[in-house]
Amino acid sequence: IHNNIAITEMPEGSQGEGYFATSFEKVIGLARKNSIWPLPFATSCCGIEFMATMGSHYDLARFGSERMGFTPRQCDLLMVMGTISKKMAPILRQVYLQMAEPRWVLSVGACASSGGIFDTYSVLQGIDQVIPVDVYVPGCPPRPEAILDGVLKIQELVHNESLRRRNGEQYKALLGSYGIE
Ligand code: SF4
Repeated sequence: IHNNIAITEMPEGSQGEGYFATSFEKVIGLARKNSIWPLPFATSCCGIEFMATMGSHYDLARFGSERMGFTPRQCDLLMVMGTISKKMAPILRQVYLQMAEPRWVLSVGACASSGGIFDTYSVLQGIDQVIPVDVYVPGCPPRPEAILDGVLKIQELVHNESLRRRNGEQYKALLGSYGIE
């Protein structure tokens, strides 16, 4: 395919085995992007929308993310869905810390992102108070299409991320602002 036009006959002299050149980073990015292993941290109603997202109709598996993990050490995408109480915040943080780098965080719904309607003494007013968030999905609850859109945004980040970012000063400073070394 050349400039979106299918070439059915190869020009003379160009037949035979070919090759293409790309960077190592791009190959790694492509592989990572299409094999994200999510860890669903679902605490309330937004988790129900996630179940629909995993079902055959919306089918998250189309994007290579059907393999849920329930041990943080085997996952690279933390999906936080639902109200997080202040009592639960240290546990969420611990789960995040147990994930190996590179790891990403998707905050699904108003409660995870900002506390939502629960502006009370007991509810964390956004998970970004305890862990860094890569993508926020708005809604109360977000529809499965919005959750899929959030995963696609994560895929973009994963694909385009430099392999050096995790060792970069900016990333270290971000973790440092959360008290993570
Ligand atoms: Fe429930 Fe809305 Fe909060 Fe999601 S954002 S957990 S739907 S109250």
